[in-house]
Amino acid sequence: MRLLFIGPPGAGKGTQAERVADRLGIPHVSTGEMFRHHVSIGSDLGRKVDTIMAAGDYVPDEITIAMLAQRIAEPDASGGYILDGFPRTVVQVKSLDDLIGEDGLDRVVVFEVDETELVERMLSRGRVDDTSETIRNRFKVYLDQTQPLLDIYDARGVTVSVNGLGEVEEVTDRIVGVLDASDSRATPA
Ligand code: AMP
Repeated sequence: MRLLFIGPPGAGKGTQAERVADRLGIPHVSTGEMFRHHVSIGSDLGRKVDTIMAAGDYVPDEITIAMLAQRIAEPDASGGYILDGFPRTVVQVKSLDDLIGEDGLDRVVVFEVDETELVERMLSRGRVDDTSETIRNRFKVYLDQTQPLLDIYDARGVTVSVNGLGEVEEVTDRIVGVLDASDSRATPA
């Protein structure tokens, strides 16, 4: 099963992608984590993306796409995966289409989180980049950049919405439940 998790910053998407991937026995593919790993080991790629990431900008599509293409070609990804943080741009959607086909994703899980609660949640984490101004901007960037992607996947009929608020365990159950339910609807008896 190939899945994509999309949601605003602070929605708990990465945590849930990891947990659901564990339950389904498929890898969690996070481009953000892959970039952070490269930065931490000081690879050529890491040195290239370090300042870009620190500024909160997007890494150029060609770099991101090449890294992702290589990752999903690895043997452990042959039975599926959960994409987290990719695609983020329309160009990346097209590239993913080229790699796995327009019908390559089984489901796109969209995290619905109320903005007010999201901001409160992020402020309570006390992270340095979680000032209310930064949070509002990150939320805005998410809406600006990701909305076109949701429209594309909506038109393909693969999106399912999940309420991202609640206990971690409860949200994981909710996602697995939604995936099971949408699966049985999609598969004729
Ligand atoms: P994340 O952990 O998904 O929030 O990603 C952290 C950072 O990695 C982002 O702010 C970007 O700088 C970079 N990044 C991750 N995924 C992508 C992507 N698909 N396209 C461009 N930049 C990305």
